[in-house]
Amino acid sequence: MNKGIYLVSVVGLFVLTSIGADGVLHGYTDTPFIPGQSWRVHDDTRPFPPRVMPAPAVQSLLPSDAMVLFDGSSLQAWSDAETWVVKDGAMIAGAKDIRTKELFGDMQLHIEWMTPFPVPGDNVSDRGNSGVFLLDQYEVQIFDTFKTNTIYADGMAGAIYGQHPPLVNASRAPGEWQTFDITLTAPFFSPTNTILGRVTVFHNGIRVQKDTVLLGGTNHRSLPNVNPHPVPAPIRLQAHGSPVQFRNIWVRPINQR
Ligand code: MG
Repeated sequence: MNKGIYLVSVVGLFVLTSIGADGVLHGYTDTPFIPGQSWRVHDDTRPFPPRVMPAPAVQSLLPSDAMVLFDGSSLQAWSDAETWVVKDGAMIAGAKDIRTKELFGDMQLHIEWMTPFPVPGDNVSDRGNSGVFLLDQYEVQIFDTFKTNTIYADGMAGAIYGQHPPLVNASRAPGEWQTFDITLTAPFFSPTNTILGRVTVFHNGIRVQKDTVLLGGTNHRSLPNVNPHPVPAPIRLQAHGSPVQFRNIWVRPINQR
């Protein structure tokens, strides 16, 4: 079957669906529907959000009460980091996910990241896959989506992977530093009650998630896990076979409960 190019009109905007730079659809048609949405997990017909070009990157400075998780010199705040390396003030993803030794619940997190340039190829595996897993469960996706159509919509940079695409595509080019500023309201679990978590994400200074409900722990090609889990928990950074770089990572725990 010739899948061709699908054009979908969304609020008067014409946007391409998930046709990759390699000319193929990266999404799926056989996955379950996401609860509360009319789209499947990684739906290959889900429209991409509109493009917003962010301002040029500027040096981000620390607030006075920030807890530094990476200052350019040491991986000491992280566990399982033996395969990651520190070079030129950045840490480079290795073979295994790393987790903060410290545990966090509600928080404000700043993290800077850069996907590889030159891009090694046009396959999904070449596009700088990593991710920030809040509470060790919920992935804010890191990926090179400068060209938009390099992956399905709910796999773009700034997506809550497999659940919520970003509101807009605020990506900078591969080889440029990008920022996430994330606020998390952690979920609450008791024997009789579950209150789902919520997250707001600014990507390169542009809001791409607005108090978004975390439907459950991140999965690939299947529905989110809704099982109770420990809170607080580590922040996890994903190793996904690509040498994604990180710098200037800090967090402010927020204690409101
Ligand atoms: Mg990822």
